[in-house]
Amino acid sequence: MDNATLIYDNVFYTRKIALTTLLDVKDLVVEFRMPEGRLRAPDGVSFHVKPREILGVVGESGSGKSVTALAIMGLIPHPPGKIVSGTLLFQGQDLQAQIQKIRGKEISMVFQNPLNSLNPSLKIGLQLTEVLVEHLHTSQTEADERTIDLMKKLGIPEPQALMRCYPFEYSGGMRQRIMIAMAMLCNPTFMIADEPTTALDVTIQAQILHLFQQLREEFRTSILYITHDLSVVSQIADRVLVMYAGKIVEHAQTERIFANPLHPYTQGLIRSIPGATSEGAKRLSSIPGNVPGLIHPPPGCRFHPRCAEVMDVCRHEIPPDFQVEGTSVACWLYKE
Ligand code: SF4
Repeated sequence: MDNATLIYDNVFYTRKIALTTLLDVKDLVVEFRMPEGRLRAPDGVSFHVKPREILGVVGESGSGKSVTALAIMGLIPHPPGKIVSGTLLFQGQDLQAQIQKIRGKEISMVFQNPLNSLNPSLKIGLQLTEVLVEHLHTSQTEADERTIDLMKKLGIPEPQALMRCYPFEYSGGMRQRIMIAMAMLCNPTFMIADEPTTALDVTIQAQILHLFQQLREEFRTSILYITHDLSVVSQIADRVLVMYAGKIVEHAQTERIFANPLHPYTQGLIRSIPGATSEGAKRLSSIPGNVPGLIHPPPGCRFHPRCAEVMDVCRHEIPPDFQVEGTSVACWLYKE
């Protein structure tokens, strides 16, 4: 193959990937050097997000889901953390090389606690419009107009009055809407939402979930939605990744995960949702034990100390991903 053909093929391949895949994460490992030792989470995770897709990432605290988000955003605190291997491609290009330039514009993030993200001593309008003035160099008048227009589209009532208020004057649900508006101001292609509804009551949570669906439909934004709550992703995600102790243990379309969960951990998560099983709340149960410490993770399958179906091989060998009718599952039960 001559050089010209090689370059053409590379360009063609990159474009093809960019069309079908917005974000491509391969073998990502983030390591934290702690006084007690080295901890890896995520530890070799691979996944992709398609244009206009909502990908749910589910896992308990300590699964590595939020660190995965921070790695994508280029926000791993260093030291003690560092991406030690793996590739991150955004629209076919190396993400780490461009994240400083595109963070807040093409890629944005909504965090769990809006109060921590909003400055309590600045009026909301100033905090919102600052994003446009700083990133897109608009005039203050244009920034005001665009912000009010976006808030109207997002169903935020009386946006003009809201711009003149301080964050403490609004409820948690409204503050989270404001944060979502802030994350949307530069019309990002991709947004990460890390437990955005955890602190909210069920009614407000449903409204915020509806808002994320609206972002996907109206603004064509792809969303990586991180939560510990599988019932939340059932309402919003197209596909689901289940993470456990730094690894992806199951990955499938949302309907499939709920209709036929394969990994014992996913099955346990679903049984712990009230009314999610055919026997309803009668089968409600929690998974025994805790997520293991990751400085010395269990050998073999990391779930084996908690698994009711553990076999000898599970204690010694890390299960690879097995493909079972459209589901990818890391569990020895599915070895042919
Ligand atoms: S690999 Fe073994 S221990 Fe791990 S989830 Fe599957 S059956 Fe359980």
